[in-house]
Amino acid sequence: MEKSVKELAEVAKNFIDERDWRQFQTSKDLAEDISVEANELLELFLWKDGKELDEKAREDSEFLQKIKNETADVFFGCLALSDHLNFDLDEAFLSKIKQLEKRYDKEQVKGKSIKIDEKEWLEKQGKT
Ligand SMILES: [Mg+2]
Repeated sequence: MEKSVKELAEVAKNFIDERDWRQFQTSKDLAEDISVEANELLELFLWKDGKELDEKAREDSEFLQKIKNETADVFFGCLALSDHLNFDLDEAFLSKIKQLEKRYDKEQVKGKSIKIDEKEWLEKQGKT
């Protein structure tokens, strides 16, 4: 049952078209949907201890299923947005990973919890 991102994008596209929902979608709506679904995922973890939740997700299949469902909702939103704006999500992802590999040089950040501001990093790149 393995499918490529392009095949999954086709599944999402067909799901939308079979329901004639495209008429209700704009990029704004789809971006909002991604955010709402991401927050539904986040709500599962709200006000609870992170390490305990890791353990719970490994031991409680019902809890893990909720995480899977919300993660899939986020992914569906991403596929729908990429379809709506006609770009390949797999290419966008790989392009972003390439940028992250530069921004977070593995020799410099290995084993460190670090946040490098994207805007500042891009400005720095422009200056060098
Ligand atoms: Mg949801």
